[in-house]
Amino acid sequence: MYPYSSHVWKILACPYCEHSLVQTSEGAMCTGCRAEYGCNASGALDLRLEQPKEYNLEIELGTPLRQLSGLDLAPLPMDADAEVDFIGFGVPHHLTRELMSHFPMACGQDSMMLDLGCGSGLHKGVCEHAGFEYVGLDHESPKAMLLGDAHALPFADASFEFVLSVAVLEHIRFPLVMMRETYRVLKPHGRFIGTVAFLEPFHADSYYHHTHLGLLNLLEYGGFEVRYIAPSKDWTALTALAKALLPGMPPVVRSTLTAPIRAAHEVCRLIAQRRGRSVDEHLRLCTTTGAFAFVAVKG
Ligand SMILES: [Zn+2]
Repeated sequence: MYPYSSHVWKILACPYCEHSLVQTSEGAMCTGCRAEYGCNASGALDLRLEQPKEYNLEIELGTPLRQLSGLDLAPLPMDADAEVDFIGFGVPHHLTRELMSHFPMACGQDSMMLDLGCGSGLHKGVCEHAGFEYVGLDHESPKAMLLGDAHALPFADASFEFVLSVAVLEHIRFPLVMMRETYRVLKPHGRFIGTVAFLEPFHADSYYHHTHLGLLNLLEYGGFEVRYIAPSKDWTALTALAKALLPGMPPVVRSTLTAPIRAAHEVCRLIAQRRGRSVDEHLRLCTTTGAFAFVAVKG
């Protein structure tokens, strides 16, 4: 079995009843409901739900609708008070320097973070650089250190100071449940950072691609204070569609082929401005981006 640290064993919990787990020769057993969990071929504990689990959501209807007007629609800025210095570090796939500038620094030596939907653990290096003990959980990846379900996170309440979830939310069947679960496993003042697909073709069984307001609604439903919901200025709908329509083409070729459309947009924007029509470039980006980034806090 994967050599989990004593810190990890301390926070592992049964995804059904949330009681703690104890190690067994085969994997782990719940100290509450006595459910037993095995490992995959790589030695990762498999804490996914094997039986249906009921989860009740309470939803308050009739609350005021949120509207885009008045919201910050700008691309994510660099955090001028960034806690972690990533100079000299490469930027892993799906992350940006701007997003990394919002990463928290671990409070202490026992600080843990969760990479929710970690895939092969691409973000381990940058999270450890921020001082965290890294816990990577995925539903499918054979390279993940833990297998589990974002709808029933196998961790005790308030286990993590930081949850990162990159390009995962669109693959979640019941996003409201994931929000509540993420909030539950974060410590007070813990940070939740991630990205979600918007205008990119559905891929790898993605369920829901989120708009700015949809993401705001989700995060607020989870209980989070939202610091930023920001459109990606590099991963646009055009870029995402070109990748889907021109598979196998190098990015530079795709960029060259789509350049006339971007140039036409610039011309239209200038003409509109000359005619005195206000052009909200941030709103335009929000309506045509391929993905949103978010930074939220458990208050
Ligand atoms: Zn249990």
